[in-house]
Amino acid sequence: MAATDTSAMHAHAWWQAVSALRAGLREHHADILIAHGEVVEKLAKLHARIPFTTLFSHQEVGNGLTYKRDQAVAAWCRNNGVQYREFPQSGVRRGGINRDRFRKFWMSRIAASPPLQVPVIRQPQNIRVLAASTGFPSLPMFNNHATAWQPVSEDAAAETLNDFIGCRGKRYRGGISSPNTAFEAGSRLSVHLAWGTLTARQTWHAVRQRLAELDSRDPSTPRWRSSLSAFLSRLTWRDHFSQRLESEPGLEFNSVHPCYRDIPYENDPRLLKAWCQGLTGYPLVDAVMRCLAATGFVNFRMRAMVVSFACHVLHLDWRLIHPHLACVFRDYDPGIHLPQLQMQAGVVGWNAIRIYNPSKQLTDWDAGCRFTKQWVGELRDVTVDQICNGDISVDYPAPVVPFAARSRAMADILYRIRKTEKARAETSAVYNRHGSRRPDRSFRARKRKPPAPQQRTLFDDVDSEN
Ligand SMILES: Cc1cc2nc3c(=O)[nH]c(=O)nc-3n(C[C@H](O)[C@H](O)[C@H](O)COP(=O)(O)OP(=O)(O)OC[C@H]3O[C@@H](n4cnc5c(N)ncnc54)[C@H](O)[C@@H]3O)c2cc1C
Repeated sequence: MAATDTSAMHAHAWWQAVSALRAGLREHHADILIAHGEVVEKLAKLHARIPFTTLFSHQEVGNGLTYKRDQAVAAWCRNNGVQYREFPQSGVRRGGINRDRFRKFWMSRIAASPPLQVPVIRQPQNIRVLAASTGFPSLPMFNNHATAWQPVSEDAAAETLNDFIGCRGKRYRGGISSPNTAFEAGSRLSVHLAWGTLTARQTWHAVRQRLAELDSRDPSTPRWRSSLSAFLSRLTWRDHFSQRLESEPGLEFNSVHPCYRDIPYENDPRLLKAWCQGLTGYPLVDAVMRCLAATGFVNFRMRAMVVSFACHVLHLDWRLIHPHLACVFRDYDPGIHLPQLQMQAGVVGWNAIRIYNPSKQLTDWDAGCRFTKQWVGELRDVTVDQICNGDISVDYPAPVVPFAARSRAMADILYRIRKTEKARAETSAVYNRHGSRRPDRSFRARKRKPPAPQQRTLFDDVDSEN
């Protein structure tokens, strides 16, 4: 609860999910005990009252803190004769995996067998019902803020999934790049996958079933197919990135590529504050930061843009911006978040170094400035031309730093590192440990070679839809 990457948005999500679960169980005369405190201490207390013999939990890919907590729990179980059983819920292999085998392993976990049907809960036999403890913040405490946050419960997850595969998903391809459309066209399943109100296996099989049911005579079928296939790819990326953190937990603290660990970031606290508060003077960046603080969501491209802006233009270390960003993501998942931060900061070594130009992103993805005006109230009465040309005379900050000179300076630093012999040699090693392998047949021939470095087309990003 006190970790720098935990926020009220996350605590609210847990509370909401567990409250819904509790309400369902109470109908069957069972209950959930919610304890707030250090876990080993609480387990010891509970064990003194009820000497349980087995402890069940899900297997979490978390950060250093939760990893240490899990080790402490395992040690406590060993010392107290309690069997500790953790259940994997993803396609991530505990302790690491040879990347050549990852896809096969993932398919065996997620795609091979359909999820278990939830059994009908009968009147529980021999279950002792515990009185709920206090000490955890209650829902009303969040009420002032929580109205714009996506609900997190199993019912909400099922509704979102059904709505996506039955209706909204058709617009997925082509719809997830713009912040004006992604709130509707994106699956919006990330919060559920992050907090466990839906599993990847449930999602995968529901989408595969929908694909199988598509009628080839229906003119909208090709669009559905392409959208749902694009979605399934992203679902596999989730575990692809989480596996990186699981295999190499140190990447929470250091870039995965050793040659990018000493970049001379300025880390100016005034620039960090301006970025966090959405007061950089770059309208789209400010709109995204304010939207995140209020809703906890924005699409991939906008997330990537604000990270690129912070690291490449404001010269802030990705480790410095990590806690704030984690706290304003309702779907915070360290396994995706940390590797993505490094990728967007350009410190992974083999990905294209993408420096997003916020002015170009504005004209490409928010040409009418609808999203920008929604979140940057000061600009509501300013014309689109004035916003796009930076000709703003209202009470709104001037750009805190010049984009071109600052991004060029950081690009020079990153490319100087990239060109060294040492970096090239390390890139191969890091890629072999963590790089994605192609599922097609050409993969065999290519698997040990990192992709060729991309051309230096930095200032107009040319990536795919994401
Ligand atoms: C800097 C940065 C940090 C991010 N941090 C998080 C995070 O903490 N939690 C999180 O869930 N997503 C994170 N993402 C990935 C992505 O932006 C979100 O998953 C996505 O925007 C959520 O929208 P959606 O629910 O509509 O998902 P969809 O676009 O419909 O995708 C479906 C699911 O696939 C997974 N996914 C999608 N894109 C990616 C990706 N690029 N890499 C890995 N998995 C992906 C997610 O689990 C997502 O819910 C981050 C991206 C960036 C650039």
